[in-house]
Amino acid sequence: MIRITLVLTSLVIAAGCATLPRMELRTCVQNMEMLDAAVEQCAVVYEIENGKYAPIDKVSTFIKDGIESLRCPAGGIYTLGPVMGHGPECSVHGPKSEAKNRLLGVR
Ligand SMILES: [Zn+2]
Repeated sequence: MIRITLVLTSLVIAAGCATLPRMELRTCVQNMEMLDAAVEQCAVVYEIENGKYAPIDKVSTFIKDGIESLRCPAGGIYTLGPVMGHGPECSVHGPKSEAKNRLLGVR
């Protein structure tokens, strides 16, 4: 009886571990989508050329609650990409395109 309980407990823990990183990845990708959109909007408004970097304080004004409100749930640090570039990157989840592909199950 004790043995069965232990097996069940470890199964529940395993299932919990499998879904949490995925939820974190999903939130992180959503954050990076918002960062990317903010960079592109900022570039249009301030006429920043493709390949150049938009100033963070200006990018922040295009995010509803400011850039500080977008936090990676896994504690990753975001790096903004250049205008019309590869997009933002998370220090835990990697570049936006790669993180998004992982979320969608594309390899
Ligand atoms: Zn992240």
